[in-house]
Amino acid sequence: MSMLNTNQMPIRSVPLLDTVAEYNSLKVELDAAVSKVLASGHYILGPEVKALEREVADFCGTQFGIGVANGTDALLLLLDALGIGPGDEVITTPFTFFASSEVISQIGATPVFVDIDPISYNLCAEKLEAVITPRTKAIIPVHIFGQPADMDLILEVADRHGIAVIEDACQAIGSSFKDRRSGSMGLAGCFSFFPTKNLGGYGDGGMIVTNDEELAKKLQILRAHGSKKKYYHSMVGYNSRLDEIQAALLRVKLPHLPVWNEARRVKADRYKERLAHLPIQLPHELPDRYSIYHLFIIQTDERDSLLQYLQQNGIGAGAYYPVALHLQEVYQDLGYQLGSLPEAEYASQRTLALPLHPHMASEDQDWVIEVVERFFSERG
Ligand SMILES: *Cc1c(COP(=O)(O)O)cnc(C)c1O
Repeated sequence: MSMLNTNQMPIRSVPLLDTVAEYNSLKVELDAAVSKVLASGHYILGPEVKALEREVADFCGTQFGIGVANGTDALLLLLDALGIGPGDEVITTPFTFFASSEVISQIGATPVFVDIDPISYNLCAEKLEAVITPRTKAIIPVHIFGQPADMDLILEVADRHGIAVIEDACQAIGSSFKDRRSGSMGLAGCFSFFPTKNLGGYGDGGMIVTNDEELAKKLQILRAHGSKKKYYHSMVGYNSRLDEIQAALLRVKLPHLPVWNEARRVKADRYKERLAHLPIQLPHELPDRYSIYHLFIIQTDERDSLLQYLQQNGIGAGAYYPVALHLQEVYQDLGYQLGSLPEAEYASQRTLALPLHPHMASEDQDWVIEVVERFFSERG
């Protein structure tokens, strides 16, 4: 698409991601999946959900999948199922989407933040042990931007202290660490099917995967108002169900996920090659990781001006994440200050995401590269 910006330069509109292009690539099958559900008369927790649970669990190499209403609920129901509540502490990273810590607060426990590794942006596993206390009940590593955290070290520390590990794999479906899929390494893993995720539905959706049968059974009860048999309630639960239309749509998309993730990696490599000469920090894959580039994150001292320049030129870039969670207004009472977690704070001033999605045209990527180059050459 061409138009003119205020400098009368021709610009091309490049969105951060393009969910409509993805829909169009599978339109016939997706439309048919919806019609089939509409005609079936079964709309919530039916055969499509059951099949998707099986398929996602198989995809991750786990025994059980439990469909829920969204990724946030996946995390929340897990904390509830583990009996976590007031007086307990749960450790997570400050450099993530708010939901990762929001659920800890929702359940009445206290979030404890560990600083990040500046290369991968993931929770720094070496700093984990120092914040464990007798009240620590769980650790939520987040595989941020699609790259798995250091699960060997996290699991080793957690095991030694008898603490549960819940993987927030909402940005990382299909990524792996030493050939183990994200979501399958801890006690349980959580996925989001929010439309912008690598496996996105057309509304909200989420899933928990686990190998723990007892936990899986409890989650199935919790998501349906604490009842196994209709109108008989064994616990106070939630209304957190996955609907049939979303499940049917996701079943059409799941077989394409590996190819889409691979397409993102190819485009990520192309960015890395073509932007290597510029004064920016590019994404770096650590050994033994297979990242799925949920977002392509770069770092520069001039983040805000670059962001503005990209936006003026029609490019849908965004700051991820502009405020580290320990400095959010809502967490003022937790006792953190500026300087408490310096790596996360530093990253939050400097990171931004460039457009990247499986259906992105090379010409669009060329345009993004050209505009980034032009920004730095104008600065001299
Ligand atoms: C998207 C996301 C969530 C929440 O998922 P929803 O489906 O939007 O509730 C949780 N954690 C991370 C890291 C996410 O990116």
